[in-house]
Amino acid sequence: MSYPQTYYSERLQPKPESEPSLTGAVDADICIVGGGLAGLTLALRLAEQGQNCLLLEAEQVGFGASGRNGGFVTPGFAQSVDVLEKKLGIDTAKTLFAETVRGVEFVRKRAKAIGGVIQGDGQLKLLRYNAPDTVERIVHHMNAVHDQRLTILSPDALAAQLSSKTYRHAIHDPHTFTIDPLAYVQGLKQHALATGMVNLCEKTPAVSLQKQGASWQIATAQGSVNARNVVLTGSAYLGQLYRPLAGAILPIATYVVSTDGLGSSLDDAIRFRGAIADTRLAGDYYRRIERDQLLWGGRITTQRSEPRYLANLLKRQIEEIYPQLSDLRIRHAWSGLMGYAVHKMPIIGELEPGLWSCTAFGGYGLSTTAMGAEIVADALLQGDDRWRMSQAFGARWSGGAVGRAGTQLVYWGMQLKDRWQEKSG
Ligand SMILES: Cc1cc2nc3c(=O)[nH]c(=O)nc-3n(C[C@H](O)[C@H](O)[C@H](O)COP(=O)(O)OP(=O)(O)OC[C@H]3O[C@@H](n4cnc5c(N)ncnc54)[C@H](O)[C@@H]3O)c2cc1C
Repeated sequence: MSYPQTYYSERLQPKPESEPSLTGAVDADICIVGGGLAGLTLALRLAEQGQNCLLLEAEQVGFGASGRNGGFVTPGFAQSVDVLEKKLGIDTAKTLFAETVRGVEFVRKRAKAIGGVIQGDGQLKLLRYNAPDTVERIVHHMNAVHDQRLTILSPDALAAQLSSKTYRHAIHDPHTFTIDPLAYVQGLKQHALATGMVNLCEKTPAVSLQKQGASWQIATAQGSVNARNVVLTGSAYLGQLYRPLAGAILPIATYVVSTDGLGSSLDDAIRFRGAIADTRLAGDYYRRIERDQLLWGGRITTQRSEPRYLANLLKRQIEEIYPQLSDLRIRHAWSGLMGYAVHKMPIIGELEPGLWSCTAFGGYGLSTTAMGAEIVADALLQGDDRWRMSQAFGARWSGGAVGRAGTQLVYWGMQLKDRWQEKSG
């Protein structure tokens, strides 16, 4: 099994075997490169509409961000609704946001069908500074314009859920739920294979991609594919397979830990059973798992090396917010790469005739990969042009190493802004 040591891979039963690698030369109508949630969901959607496809995965499905994330299935994009409304106008922003709500519902329905995947309901969104007017405005706007059902928790209601001095306000979102993402990926894989329409090749990295006449040639270690259409879904793990896309995607690393059992001290600190996140740019997101364990994610960085002190770093962060958990022991610590475009919106659409992209979902991929897969499947099978909706953003170059350094600076600047707001709030 090629998955890293995580809470999810530890609980995965049975441990999945790889599907056979690609050998020899094959033809395909549609070849998808990357078996994360974007590629897998797209394959499933195509198959359910009677379309065969070939799916190439370098390791095993869900090896990338999809099998090791926080498991929060939430509507919206990495980019804020405010920016979408300003840039695209209220109607397009509304339509786009509604697509992500459909993405959430798609995952909920599938996760229920798979069974044993859903782990919690609802989300608390927390502010670390005092801003009652801002909270009122956000909740009113999201409910009135984007049909959400957000509510503001009173200070007593917040204290009933969490015992921490860090938070000043909480918004409850009933739409969000949490899953075991690796179990979900395995369920999707089984559903896709059961259709008999998906040829899944694992341990098969695509190593080159070239246009040849009206079709595309993909080379792998022991085989090749001649495809009329290719969809790139490799996100931050895609590397240089198609340089314009590689240049448009910033790989951003983020970290997660899970703890050993915490006994009754967890009930003393955190009683809410759903998703919990603060509103900082790269804030904390966490949730209870199993009977008395905690799963905690946070921090982002453009530096690719994994810090050796990762477990201690997040442990300190947890203790800062919940001193009553200072005895906790970290069981697993892992990192993963998210693919971000500079505009923080997914890159969905036709890059060249027959070459498609469905990628760069950033830290909001659980609902938006489902949305992207539906949009691309509809484009390929019915000529639907919903993918043009977000073209105001497009696939812009991220600036390679210079772009990464710039993004790290912007991130540090935003961290300072967060701290300043909290000090003055
Ligand atoms: C630690 C962490 C926490 C997160 N938490 C959340 C969360 O709580 N909620 C949320 O909505 N989102 C979260 N995200 C983001 C979310 O996981 C991603 O947006 C989503 O999984 C992206 O899916 P994907 O299919 O686009 O990419 P990935 O899952 O990264 O999949 C890409 C796949 O392509 C394969 N691949 C790459 N290149 C090739 C090639 N040349 N040939 C063949 N295969 C190739 C890779 O092996 C990989 O399996 C988190 C991400 C991380 C890393």
